[in-house]
Amino acid sequence: MSDYILVLDEGTTSTRAMLFAADGVLVASAQEPLTQHYPQAGWVEHDPREIWDKTLACAQAIMPKAGGAAMIACIGITNQRETVVAWDKATGAPLTHAIVWQDRRTEPFCAQLRAAGHEAGVQERTGLLLDPYFSGTKMRWMLDNVPEVRAAADKGTLAFGTVESWLVYKLTGGAAHITDASNASRTLLMGLEDAQFDEGLCDLLGVPRAALPGVVDTSGPLAMTAPGLFGRAIPITGLAGDQQAATVGQGCLAPGQTKATYGTGAFVLTCQGSRIPRSANRLLGTVLTQLDGARTYAIEGSVFVAGSLVQWLRDSLGIVEVASETEALARSIPDSAGVVIVPALAGLGAPHWRAEARGVIAGLSFASGKAQLARAALEAMAHQTHDLAAAFAADGAPWQTLRIDGGMSANDWMAQDLADVLGVTVERPGFVETTALGAAMLAAAGAGLYPDLASACQTMRGRLATFDPAMADDVRDARLAAWKKALGAS
Ligand code: ADP
Repeated sequence: MSDYILVLDEGTTSTRAMLFAADGVLVASAQEPLTQHYPQAGWVEHDPREIWDKTLACAQAIMPKAGGAAMIACIGITNQRETVVAWDKATGAPLTHAIVWQDRRTEPFCAQLRAAGHEAGVQERTGLLLDPYFSGTKMRWMLDNVPEVRAAADKGTLAFGTVESWLVYKLTGGAAHITDASNASRTLLMGLEDAQFDEGLCDLLGVPRAALPGVVDTSGPLAMTAPGLFGRAIPITGLAGDQQAATVGQGCLAPGQTKATYGTGAFVLTCQGSRIPRSANRLLGTVLTQLDGARTYAIEGSVFVAGSLVQWLRDSLGIVEVASETEALARSIPDSAGVVIVPALAGLGAPHWRAEARGVIAGLSFASGKAQLARAALEAMAHQTHDLAAAFAADGAPWQTLRIDGGMSANDWMAQDLADVLGVTVERPGFVETTALGAAMLAAAGAGLYPDLASACQTMRGRLATFDPAMADDVRDARLAAWKKALGAS
């Protein structure tokens, strides 16, 4: 009986292979850092060859811990989203570096499309905004600026794909050129309604439809690895973008169930069931899962600065030596003595979208010290999340509970403060690698190790800590009023 699930977790800064037992317990993992290339200000690139070589090396390194390829039931892949790889189907070789999701080089093209009045139509069709973040304009840039990419398009041998698509192509020895619906929904080229690449959108962005992969489910018998690679053909049965995988890993499969990842920034997704999200508050609509061709959607919003505010307190102000010290500092005082921080250090993301906004520290007095600043920094997480919650609710996606993960979620004081300010129960899993766990759940369900995804989630999710709201209304109201005032100043 082959019992293990191999997860390939392709992050922005590292590539990992992880081995899960069928009950969701992590058995082994291997990790390699990924080289970041910054050819110009605002440009970020990866080498697709390095991504593949390190993925294969990590997978091979943990195979023996499973007892060999024969013991691997299935493979799940989760990846940094929106990053674009271009390769030649005739040779299987990359044609240029991958353009990474953070790369801003296509802003002029996006501005041109916005000025021509295309944003509303594109948002209606794709759930996304015209921003360089998404894949489609990156593909167009490659066609316009890399002669090899244009030549391959003219010959009909060009393949575009996001990172999971590239890996499946390599894992299958070039047999499969596919992408899953969750990754495809981040390209600006896919209609949310039918999850197919759309001729009209391809024409608008100038991307040849023929270069795009086939869109497949996020879970199911999706492809088989080339037999020679691991000594046996292993089924690939789960594929999902990292935030969607984390949402599954948190078991958010029913409408209203919400996860928030607090890392450098904060990413929030609320499951919408089969309803296609339509945001009037500049949130994004995205595919969460596609099973047997039936889609579950999510609404998504992110704030730019979360854990990075704590990093700034540590590295620029020297208020703490390690991030976790903020917890004891926050607990050492009854309140922030009126100090409010607006963490707009890199502008404001959802729901405000004000790139020109800058950070504010308001309410300073002689009573303000390290502890008040540390507490105000943590309180800012609940305040920012509260504004997101209001936007989600206005879009018809109110939160039931908030399931948190990410490095910063280890802070118990912050978790309790989130529950208090949001007025919902906050849950935190014992195993916080929810992205990899979600990919394992999708793969396990897709391989038939569980009757369906919901049962995979139920068994594999593990133990939880919960935080229930306990703050008096007047305290919460006063906090939010002070936040609103400071936000105005930012
Ligand atoms: P990413 O995946 O974006 O690199 P992580 O999920 O590893 O980030 O989270 C790290 C971030 O969380 C850092 O910015 C750090 O400042 C913050 N952080 C980590 N632990 C704590 C803690 N106990 N309290 C507050 N912030 C924390």
